[in-house]
Amino acid sequence: MAASTASSSSSSVPKRIVICSTSVGPLGSGIGGGVELTLHGLVLGLAARGHHVEVVAPAGSLHVGASVHQIPGAPQVSSQTMGREAPIEMPAAPVLGAMWEWVRDHQSRFDVAINLAYDWLPFYLTPFLRVPVAHLVSMGSLNDAMDGAIADLLDARPGAAAVHSRAQAETFPAIADRLRVIGNGIAVERYDVHLTADEPRHLGFVGRISPEKGIADVFAIAQATGLPVKAWGLMQDEACWREAAAQYPGAQVSYEGFLATDDLQAAIGGCAGLLMTPKWVEAFGNVAIEAMACGVPVIAYRRGGPAEIVVDGETGFLVEPDDIDGAILAVSRLDEIDRLVCRQRVDERYSTGALAERVDAWLDDLIRLDARV
Ligand code: UDP
Repeated sequence: MAASTASSSSSSVPKRIVICSTSVGPLGSGIGGGVELTLHGLVLGLAARGHHVEVVAPAGSLHVGASVHQIPGAPQVSSQTMGREAPIEMPAAPVLGAMWEWVRDHQSRFDVAINLAYDWLPFYLTPFLRVPVAHLVSMGSLNDAMDGAIADLLDARPGAAAVHSRAQAETFPAIADRLRVIGNGIAVERYDVHLTADEPRHLGFVGRISPEKGIADVFAIAQATGLPVKAWGLMQDEACWREAAAQYPGAQVSYEGFLATDDLQAAIGGCAGLLMTPKWVEAFGNVAIEAMACGVPVIAYRRGGPAEIVVDGETGFLVEPDDIDGAILAVSRLDEIDRLVCRQRVDERYSTGALAERVDAWLDDLIRLDARV
């Protein structure tokens, strides 16, 4: 089933927009994964189009270029650890509930709210609010209760949910053609392009250290190619790192810590290539466009968002999912890629301006549809 990519012409009418962040942790902590960078891209891109943007986020969040309303409360548990049949759980004094109380209390000041939390509550609450809410779903289907909440929302508020990639939409087969695909975007100007890889040659991995990111395959590729791999990201599951290291004792994989975006871009630009070996359907894969913005080609499994970002043979290589030998072969072909082409691809498709144009069209359509409900 094809997901909808239709968009009306973007409006120049300034809107007052409130963006609700993920409730799993403060902005800047890394716990929110790619959602944190997505929020940043949305703030920059929408503000540059003349909109008034405010952010609601858990207390302790970093400044993101707009006023951030810091909300105290207990964080939600990240959904990627949730089973398919798991019930929805809420801690005592939840930050998620407090964030949406804030929206309820201030809704008359805004034309539209954007929800970035992959949580049941905001989907359920949307028809109870007067302000239209646009939900940007950040993960593929993981849990039946969440799938039901997204489907119910679309029945009540058509057009109110979007995703990052077609592959992500298709993980929700019952509603795939009702989800709008908006890609993603980064502040490309913050990333310096490196036209040559550093010596001694090394590869990179960027992402949360967790089983769904396929860290064991990274160790396998490092061992087989003999190339060192530098890994940056939040150490979410140390046991999975230790197991991979024990399984591939010849692999030179060094953990380089979790860096803020400016430091991360400076560090990854020297890599000969970035490895993306996810075991789940990556909704998008921000790290692919970040690496490409630095001129770094991406070797990715043909699965999920990265398969829609990487142009095989032009901005990296796509190999069949879980095909470690295919990835090893791709490493030997990295010099065929023109690193400037990687950067140009990001400039064209994945800038904050390009993202904001797509989101703006979505918000205008939603506000129009919502007025008719
Ligand atoms: N990231 C970061 N510092 C690091 C490593 C990663 O800020 O040292 C960020 C990176 O910029 C990206 C996010 O972590 O935005 C990972 O997002 P992605 O979409 O690749 O995966 P997710 O964690 O959402 O599954």
